[in-house]
Amino acid sequence: DQHASPTKVTAIAGDGIGPEVMRATQAVLAAAGARIEWEDAVAGAEAFRKGVGSGAPQETLDSIAANRVALKGPLETPVGFGEKSANVTLRKVFEMYANIRPVREIPGIRTPFAGRGIDFVVVRENVEDLYAGIEHMQTPGVAQCLKVITEAGCERIVAMAAALAEAEGRRKVTVATKANIMKLTEGMMKRVGERVLKEHPSLVHEHMIVDNAAHQMVVRPEQFDVCVMTNMNGDILSDLAAGLVGGLGVAPSSNIGDEVAMFEAVHGSAPQIAGQGLANPTALLLSSVMMLRHIGDFATARRVEHALYVTLEEGRDLTGDIAAPGQGVGTDAYVARVIANLG
Ligand code: NAD
Repeated sequence: DQHASPTKVTAIAGDGIGPEVMRATQAVLAAAGARIEWEDAVAGAEAFRKGVGSGAPQETLDSIAANRVALKGPLETPVGFGEKSANVTLRKVFEMYANIRPVREIPGIRTPFAGRGIDFVVVRENVEDLYAGIEHMQTPGVAQCLKVITEAGCERIVAMAAALAEAEGRRKVTVATKANIMKLTEGMMKRVGERVLKEHPSLVHEHMIVDNAAHQMVVRPEQFDVCVMTNMNGDILSDLAAGLVGGLGVAPSSNIGDEVAMFEAVHGSAPQIAGQGLANPTALLLSSVMMLRHIGDFATARRVEHALYVTLEEGRDLTGDIAAPGQGVGTDAYVARVIANLG
């Protein structure tokens, strides 16, 4: 609608290749006619350098709270010392309890699984489990991390998986757990899954032990439709699933809470190639397509997605990580090709 006012979206460019893939994404969305007013905000390394221990300054939190939609580049997490992960801060502050990762074969991306019709969604619980951050030394030689699973947390993530399945016309929800070993924590997810999915008789409900789910994803990935898991299992299996369809350079995701939705690529800040104009912006672009659908701009979403698919299928002007050997181009040349293919 030409007359609608633009949607305000918080843009966190992030660290490493973040600013490069954010600029690329904003250029494609602008060329596609998306009516978005970007509000720039800082998080991650820059915030830590300024002494913000949580990695996310108050202005950034205020911006996300006001706009309720954010597009985010990767944030560097300091490894092994005191500071927290800015990503975890954002997830927790806004209680973004669902991490949603579509796993779909992409035209032109060569993988050992091409042509199999892989098309499923991993729904990962995003705030509980071993990521609650309750970890300590019991005695000098014994470390302990607590696995916290709540009934309410299981209910809302299974309900989200069911709602997503219904909204996308999907048929089956697989609840993958380690309930055979952790009967109380993982068992709770299994039991709640059985109970909640009974309220959705149009969906096929299936339970799978999570190690077998990892095996099944590799040997027969086309059997999955929506797969819901607790935090750590979902973390690992969603990366495995991303690998099936082309890997980190092309894997999008969203973090959803009751109030706020934040869209981001699955990959990190790729410090080895940062600042060289080599980064592949496809993953953030596909995340922005999810964002456009979230804000109701289905036409622009379809346009950008189509231009991406055409570009990847043509196979010309692709970035080095996905191009044929020796034929990679830089981020700008790839973006120019995508924009030319907007039609
Ligand atoms: P990474 O995803 O940054 O890199 C893994 C490999 O993939 C590297 O070889 C990298 O060059 C390549 N790669 C990743 N994205 C690419 C792209 N768009 N185009 C081309 N090549 C790409 O993972 P890492 O090295 O384990 O992590 C680096 C930093 O990123 C760490 O500080 C980590 O904590 C952070 N990280 C952040 C997020 C996030 O913000 N959501 C996610 C993962 C990692």
